Amino acid sequence: MKEYKKCQSCAMPLKKTEARGTEKNLSKSAMYCKHCYQEGEFTQKDMSVEEMKQFVKATCIEMGLPKFLAGMYVKNLHKLERWK
Ligand SMILES: [Zn+2]
Repeated sequence: MKEYKKCQSCAMPLKKTEARGTEKNLSKSAMYCKHCYQEGEFTQKDMSVEEMKQFVKATCIEMGLPKFLAGMYVKNLHKLERWK
């Protein structure tokens, strides 16, 4: 299976194995981070792509990223696998 370099739900980098979510059998997910995906399910199943954009943007700004950068970061979020 293809291993993605960033979470296909929220675009967070997946460089470290610890950052990856888990499948039902508790193996590491190749696609999603631990915040989005645990034990084979999305942690926030009902989230829409727009809600995810708002959430990720707010998180980036909270972490001290300038607004325009946060905006750029989420701009292509809808192209990730989860939202196709
Ligand atoms: Zn994620």
